[in-house]
Amino acid sequence: MKALYPGSFDPLTLGHLDLIQRGSRIFDQVVVAVLDNPAKSPTFSLQRRMEQIRASIKQIDGAAVCSFNGLTVDCAKSNNADLILRGLRAMSDFEYELQIAHTNRSLDKSIETIFLATDTHHSFLSSSVVKEVATYGGEIRHMVPEIVANDLELIYKNTN
Ligand code: ADP
Repeated sequence: MKALYPGSFDPLTLGHLDLIQRGSRIFDQVVVAVLDNPAKSPTFSLQRRMEQIRASIKQIDGAAVCSFNGLTVDCAKSNNADLILRGLRAMSDFEYELQIAHTNRSLDKSIETIFLATDTHHSFLSSSVVKEVATYGGEIRHMVPEIVANDLELIYKNTN
């Protein structure tokens, strides 16, 4: 089975990475699909987000990265993925995730959405929280892979 794990990953956190790791133990392949949506004005370019992910998943068998800018179900189809993988941190994620899952299912019934519950160590983590901590010079190395921590420190060092 091949899973597509779509998201903004702006940037990748250890919570995302944990989901990729656990997903790859369940599925033969996990393709991390990075959303290319310039309208969202991402902190990191699509290229840099993909580099951060590529460097962080090197040791994970069956994990790969791609980009997309249309419908998630179209990306899943073009990658021959059997399912969409998403993470659930708390009840607050649930309503939004359920709405997306129903929307995607209404577009293509052949692609199921599977949720993995976040590891409790990472349930407080989001890309935006990490960026906020980095903005004020707080410790982020327990929240993101090394390459991301280095990038964030570079960006925010110059704004403090
Ligand atoms: P999106 O903009 O699509 O929400 P994100 O990059 O924020 O993209 O998240 C992508 C997926 O990863 C979502 O399913 C989200 O619930 C999940 N996710 C986000 N943060 C974590 C975390 N700390 N642990 C596990 N999964 C997470």
